[in-house]
Amino acid sequence: MAKSRKGVRREAAEAEGHVVIIPGLQDLLGLPRAALELAERFRSRRRSLYLVGGSVRDALLGRLHGDLDFATDARPEETAEILRGWADSIWHTGAAFGTISASKDGTRMEITTFRKEVYPEQDRHPHVTFADDILTDLERRDFTVNAMAVRLPEMDFLDPFGGLADLARKLLRTPLDPARTFAEDPLRMLRAARFLSSLELTPAPGLTEAVRAERKRLAIVSAERIRDELSRLLVSERPSRGLWFLVETGLAEEFMPELPSLALEQDPVHRHKDVLRHTLAVVDKTPPDLVLRLAALLHDIGKPKTRAFGPEGVSFHHHEVVGARMAEERLRALRYPTEVIEDVRKLVFLHMRFHTFRFGWSDSAVRRYVRDAGPLLEKLNLLVRADCTTRNPARARELARNMDLLEERIRQLKEKEDLARLRPALNGHEIMAFLGIPPGPLVGEAWRMLLEVRIERGEIPKEEAYRILAEWARERGLEPKGSPDTGGEGSGKAEDS
Ligand code: ATP
Ligand code: MG
Repeated sequence: MAKSRKGVRREAAEAEGHVVIIPGLQDLLGLPRAALELAERFRSRRRSLYLVGGSVRDALLGRLHGDLDFATDARPEETAEILRGWADSIWHTGAAFGTISASKDGTRMEITTFRKEVYPEQDRHPHVTFADDILTDLERRDFTVNAMAVRLPEMDFLDPFGGLADLARKLLRTPLDPARTFAEDPLRMLRAARFLSSLELTPAPGLTEAVRAERKRLAIVSAERIRDELSRLLVSERPSRGLWFLVETGLAEEFMPELPSLALEQDPVHRHKDVLRHTLAVVDKTPPDLVLRLAALLHDIGKPKTRAFGPEGVSFHHHEVVGARMAEERLRALRYPTEVIEDVRKLVFLHMRFHTFRFGWSDSAVRRYVRDAGPLLEKLNLLVRADCTTRNPARARELARNMDLLEERIRQLKEKEDLARLRPALNGHEIMAFLGIPPGPLVGEAWRMLLEVRIERGEIPKEEAYRILAEWARERGLEPKGSPDTGGEGSGKAEDS
C-alpha cells in the first residue's frame, strides 16, 4: 500500500515547481486547531495532507465556512486508520469515491484520496481512479479558483493553474480546455453559474462559448445533482448574475425552459422591460432562503400562458393560478422534497392576493389572508415586498406603505384573536349531538361552514352558531335534534351519554 521512495520523491519534485511560499499564510488561512493536529498525524505516518478546493479559496477570501476539504495520498482505509482514536466521529459513506469524513472538536472534515477520474453519475458503481500526486488531482477540478492546495503542516501553497491571480482579477476559468472540462462532467456548467454569483466572477474568454456549445450534454446529469447546484446558486448573495448566465448560454433551456420564455413577455403597460428582468430582480431582493428564492424565481412563470391583449393593454389574468401549477410540475421534475414544492406552490399561488385589497382590508379579508398563508405568512410578505420593482418612486412608496398597513392590521388582529388556529364556535361533538348524526363527511362540511362564518364575522356566541347550523341543516332536509339555546339533547353532551 505504502508508496515507494521513488514515488514520493517524484511527487515532491513535481509539486515543487509550483510551490509558492506566502509569508503569513497560516494566519491568513485561520485554520482551526483540529486541521493542524490532523496534518501532524498524517506526517507522522509519512502521508501527505493538503487543504484543497473550496476550503483554500474561501480561506483566502477570509470566509472559511462549512466542512474542510483535504486531499491525501493515503487510501481511504489508511485514512480511516489515521483518524481512529483521534476524531470524535468517522463516516465511511463516501469511501467508494475515496472520501472519509470526520469531525473533531466541532470541525467537520472530508479527506479524499488523490483522484484522477470520477464519474459521479453511476452512484452505485462509481468509477473512481486514484492518482498518485496532488497535481493530477488538482488538474481534474472544475475551476482554477477551486484548484489550489496548501500542504500541511508546511503551509506550502500550490497553485499550478493560477487560481490566486484569477481570484484577484475575479475571473472564472477552467484549468484545462473548457469544452473538454464541461463535456466530461456537464454539471460543471451549472457550477460555473453558481461561482459567477457567489464569488462575483466574470467568465474567462471562451468559457461562455464552451457552455453554449456543450449545454445539451446536461441531459446526462441526474435531476438530483442539477437540483443541488441550482439550490446553491439560489441561496448565494446575488443569484441574478448566475441566472443571467444560465439564460444567455441556453443552459436554462435544458432544465427549466420556463425561465428563458419569460424574456419574450413584453409588458409595456407595467413598464417591466420584460418579465425575466423583473423576475431576476425579485430573486435578488428576497433574503437567501431556498423556498423564498424558488418562489421568487417562479412567481411569474404563468405569465406567458395567460397573456392577453385587450383595449386596456396587456393582462395576465390568473397567472398565479397557472404559475402555481407550473411551479409544482417543474420542482417535481427536479426532485425537490414535497414540503419545498408545496411551500413554493402556495407562495406563487398567493403572491397576488395582496394586490386585490385595493380599497383597504376588512377583518375577514385579513383573517383569510393569514389563514391561507399559514406558516408561510412571513415569507409571503417578503415575496410581495420584493415583487415591487417599479422605477416609479411614488408607486413604490405606496406599495410599501400598503404592506406596512397590512402587517399592522395583522398585528392588531392577532392581539385580539389567535389567528394561527381559528376554530368554529362549535366542535365536531357539538355538531353531531345537535344534528343527531354519526361521524361522517357531513360533520366536516358543517364544521367548515362554521369556520367560514368564524372568518367572516369573528367570534360569535354559541347560540348564534347553533341557529346558523340549524338553518344550514334544514336547507339540507335535516331536522336538528337539539335546540339552539342548549345544543344537543338538552345537556350539550354527545347523544349516547
Ligand atoms: P462550497 O463552499 O459551496 O462547498 P466548494 O468549492 O467546496 O463550494 P464542493 O461542491 O463542495 O464545492 O466541491 C469541493 C471541491 O471539489 C471544489 O472546490 C472543486 O475543486 C471540486 N469539485 C467539486 N465538484 C466538481 C466537479 N463536478 N468537477 C470537478 N471538480 C469538482
Ligand atoms: Mg465544499
